[in-house]
This record gives sequence, structure tokens and C-alpha cells, in this order.
Amino acid sequence: MATLEIRNLRRIFGPTRAVDDVSLSVDHGELLCLLGPSGSGKSTVLRMLGGFERPDAGSILIDGENVTNLAPERRPTGMVFQSHALWSHMDVFSNVAFGLKLRRLPRAEIRTRAEAALDMVGLAGYGARRPTQLSGGQQQRVALARSLVLEPKILLLDEPFASLDQHLRERLREEVREIQHRAGITMVFVTHGQDEALALADRIAIMRDGRLEQVDRPEIVYRQPSTEFVAGFIGQMNMVDGEVHGGRLHAAELSLPVSLAEGPATLALRPEDIGLHRASGEAGARVMRVTDFGTHLSVELHTGDRVRLRATAEPGAEWAAGMHAELRPRKFAVYREGKLCALPLAPGSGELPASIQSLVADQTRHAAGT
Ligand code: ADP
Repeated sequence: MATLEIRNLRRIFGPTRAVDDVSLSVDHGELLCLLGPSGSGKSTVLRMLGGFERPDAGSILIDGENVTNLAPERRPTGMVFQSHALWSHMDVFSNVAFGLKLRRLPRAEIRTRAEAALDMVGLAGYGARRPTQLSGGQQQRVALARSLVLEPKILLLDEPFASLDQHLRERLREEVREIQHRAGITMVFVTHGQDEALALADRIAIMRDGRLEQVDRPEIVYRQPSTEFVAGFIGQMNMVDGEVHGGRLHAAELSLPVSLAEGPATLALRPEDIGLHRASGEAGARVMRVTDFGTHLSVELHTGDRVRLRATAEPGAEWAAGMHAELRPRKFAVYREGKLCALPLAPGSGELPASIQSLVADQTRHAAGT
């Protein structure tokens, strides 16, 4: 286990500030996800942590020791890339054992440790196969074993499962969490998938244009996004431009009490926080489409001024295209100049939608070691 501290890290490529003054600390045995859209600087941060990219400014400390200028092989870090790049002319065992051979460890120890690493990723008995005789998911496990066998204090993973199908990705995600828990390794995991981050992370660091937008536990990121960008990036969110007048925010036919100065503001509403009530005649919003997901209905609506909104309703609720609904927001947040300025969506985590609840519950169970 190890702690990681990043201080004022910066990397500039020509006109691009790929990483712009990023400071962050990761605790012993913590799994931090770096999440953000493509090009937001996640990989550049990770490559600097691994020593594959040199920062223009800032420092990186592992267990308090400054490693900023150390070469990759001199750092206590291991890295797993998106493309596994196994050596195809070597069998699986040799791929995993390679790093230990470079360290000139005794043969017996190499064998024991490589076999233990293969066992850890669920590939005991696969040592004699060639990488080409394995599926994509198995190859990525070998890549993981190849890093784990060197017993890094910090494991860095750069979208390691991005090329795999959804089902396999979910399974490997589970395994990474188990390994992290069992081996107690501190991990930094780069992803652009919010589901992956919500399911895996102890904390999520959201990046945008080289900077950190918010660093928090998954349920806080979901429930109290501190910027409009995070609100729109994590989970489904209805964002509606509005105007504050006389203590109320007016947005898309809605009028909600807020204690804010007059002026423009953006209303943010989660679909599950909009109560739908049957409206008489043509009043309210028009239901455009209803999709039944089994656990809930997703209802798409158009307001009179043609703002599109999405709400969720109980399974079995009788909503159909063409009906009219009155919208009653149960919770909402308001953003001004991109920053949260009123009423976080909800402080507790008890009312997260089922899909998010199960992700967060899994994560909490994992953290508790049950
Ligand atoms: P992400 O991992 O979030 O997709 P990256 O860290 O790969 O983002 O890239 C951040 C920004 O830096 C992007 O605009 C990218 O084009 C730029 N960038 C990354 N590496 C280089 C490089 N070696 N040379 C020039 N620009 C780069």
C-alpha cells in the first residue's frame, strides 16, 4: 500500500494545456478513477505518474518520496495499458515472468510469483498457452498479471478494458476490485465511462480541459455535482436555461422558489426527481415517448416552449405518447456561470435511482470487505 500525492502538475503540448495545475492525493489502498471526456488530460496525468511523460511543472510523491524525475522502472508503479501488447512469441508464463527475470530473481521464486499472479487473475493453468490462443479478455488479464507480479505499490490502469465488450468489461471490473481489495494496492484507473467510475471508484476525479472539476465519492459526485459540467456529465440530467425573478426561477414552464439574485440561471433536474401527474386537457408537458426498462419507465416530454425533458416513472404507470403531464420537481439544483449556486439535488444517498444505487452499494460492500 502506498499514498500518492500530486502537486500542481502541468504538461503543455504546443498550444494545448493537456494538464493544467492538477493537485490530488490518493490514500493507501484507495481506488481513484480519473474520469472525463476524451482529450481532457487523463492519460497524460497517468503517464506522468508512471514516468512515461515528463511534467513541465509540479511534483509527484509516493509515500512522501519525490519520484517526479525517476525513470519508469525506478518507480514503485505498474501500468496496464488499453492495448495489452503481450509478446506473441512467448507463452503466457514467460510474458508474466519477464519482469522478474530482468530483476534476476531466483528461478524458483520467479515460478512461484508468476503462478500466483496468474492465479490472482483467474488464469491458473494457462501458463503454457500463447497469447494468440487466448480471448481478448484473457489477454488483458495476462497484462494485469504482468503488472501485478512486480508487486507495484501503485497500479496505474489506462482504460484497460475499453476494447472489450460490455459484459466482459463488467466482469473484469469486479475482478480488479477484488484484486485491489485482496492485495491492498493503491490504484489510479483512467476511464471515460461514468458507469465504470461509479462502479469502481472509492473516489472519482473528474477532468475537463486539463483541469480537475470535482473530486469526491461517487454518490456525492452524483448528488451534488459542483459544476454544471459535472452535472451534465454524470448520469442523466435535464438542464434547462431559465431566469430568476422575484425569488423564483422560471424555466420551461416551471417556477421554483430560489434565494438568488435576479438574472439568468440553469435548472438541473434528474429524471427521477421529476414527479409526473396527469394534467387535464392540453395543460402541462406533452408526453412524446415512453420506454419501459422493467425497473422504471423513461418518459420523454416536450414543454409548451418545446424544451425536451426526461422523467422516470414507476413501472406499470400508465403513461403513453400524446398524454399531458404536470411536472412537479421534487429536488433540483441551480447553476450560474457554471457553478452550483443553490439547492444541491439531495444530501443523502438513500434516494439514488436503482441502477446507481446498486453500483454504489457494490462499491460500499467492497470497501467494507464483505
Ligand atoms: P485523455 O486521456 O483525457 O483522452 P490526453 O491526456 O490523451 O487526454 O490528451 C490531453 C490533450 O493533450 C489532448 O488535447 C491531446 O491531443 C493532447 N496531447 C496528448 N499527448 C500529446 C502529445 N504527445 N503531443 C501533442 N499533444 C498531445
